[in-house]
Amino acid sequence: GQMAASVAHEFRNPLTGIRGAAQMIREKPSSAPEFIGMIEEEALKLEALCEDFLELARPINIRLVPSRLGDIARSVASSWRPAFDEKEVILAVQARDDEPVLRVDPRRIEQVLHNLVRNALESTDPGGSVTISVFGGGLVVEDTGQGMDENVLERLFIPFFTTKSYGSGLGLCNVRRIVEAHDGEIEVVSRPGEGTRFELFLDRRAS
Ligand code: ADP
Ligand code: MG
Repeated sequence: GQMAASVAHEFRNPLTGIRGAAQMIREKPSSAPEFIGMIEEEALKLEALCEDFLELARPINIRLVPSRLGDIARSVASSWRPAFDEKEVILAVQARDDEPVLRVDPRRIEQVLHNLVRNALESTDPGGSVTISVFGGGLVVEDTGQGMDENVLERLFIPFFTTKSYGSGLGLCNVRRIVEAHDGEIEVVSRPGEGTRFELFLDRRAS
């Protein structure tokens, strides 16, 4: 029951936005260009939400292929660059050129990184920074953001747990499922006001 309520709640905000925009267009057709943009934006949010929910419903299958974490990190970072610039948060990637090739599912690891980078950006004020570092057997996403207290740290990976008015609370739950499907591990270090560090071990042998 609680799960159903959370799902419905997540879908309601974007739907309200879409309905409101449609109503504005009905009242004033000349305003259509502006409100169509809003409708598209809200529809995109709904699509992303559907992805998250579907993800939760199906088992995580991974297809391991030899991959370079640095390449994945750079590609995720470049797609986040505009959002970081806009918020004036620094985004850095640290990876060595000779880093080893690991057997991971690159698409899944990309998904993991997207979630961690999004969270890091959301918790970091302008002037702060987020760093993705690649090491032998995994990677680290670190931010200088608001950090977390004990209460949040305990609940972090629980589905639908969120401290954000706009959050789904599904990001880290999916992150954990993907890392576990790789037989990997996650360590989190965080202090209120000082920032947060997520360390992912994907291949213990390589580190
Ligand atoms: P959502 O981002 O939708 O809230 P997540 O599962 O991604 O859901 O994260 C759950 C909660 O964990 C967030 O609401 C936030 O309170 C906390 N959190 C996650 N990452 C960070 C971070 N880098 N810094 C501070 N808090 C974080
Ligand atoms: Mg999130």
